[in-house]
Amino acid sequence: MSADALAPLLDGAKQLGIILPGNRAGQMIDYLELLGQWNRAYNLTAVTDPGQQISYHLLDSLSALSRLHGTRIVDIGTGAGLPGIPLAIADPDRKFTLVDATAKKTRFLGHVTRTLGLGNVEIVTTRVEDYRPPTRFDTVVARALAALPELATLSEGLLAPGGILLAMKGREPVDEMRELTEAWRIRELQRVDVPGLKAQRHLVVIAKN
Ligand code: SAH
Repeated sequence: MSADALAPLLDGAKQLGIILPGNRAGQMIDYLELLGQWNRAYNLTAVTDPGQQISYHLLDSLSALSRLHGTRIVDIGTGAGLPGIPLAIADPDRKFTLVDATAKKTRFLGHVTRTLGLGNVEIVTTRVEDYRPPTRFDTVVARALAALPELATLSEGLLAPGGILLAMKGREPVDEMRELTEAWRIRELQRVDVPGLKAQRHLVVIAKN
């Protein structure tokens, strides 16, 4: 699928305001190919149509790029590496830690980082609740892990002073935002149009008061 996939990826990224160098776009397509190879045995993703994967996996992940804060990023409940792997490929100057509790997912991610030679990615197999990082993070990012109040609780021990939680959501999470405790403040709520994706998407940036 490589050649066919490159143009929609580059076009979609451009619509998100991201100019992707060809080699990085190629790495993202290689990632989808590895995902396809491992998916049969490991059941890593339900989205397997190549066109849909560009939008749902790559472009949706990239839509969070402009909201990342600082240099140390952790993706909690990363699953097959989303949004962490596309973001790490897009921005080699930041360091990404990808956390998941399921060993078969992190085994796949180890294979991805070695195969693609991603020097800015660290993989950690643990429940987020048990994770005690040696250095805290500037941004905690999460897609499809939990509701905002729970994400806030999970992020608490991971954030450096001034750090943010960046939650990738579908519809505007009105109830979840209301349920956040007063310890947290919503800094930004942005609707994003992910090219090729019919569903609604929102980015929510939350910080500690
Ligand atoms: N972020 C990915 C995966 C979402 S599915 C995506 O958007 O496609 C949720 C993932 O979180 C699963 O891979 C599951 O193993 C992991 N997970 C769920 N609870 C967790 C916890 N408490 N700590 C670490 N990982 C968790």
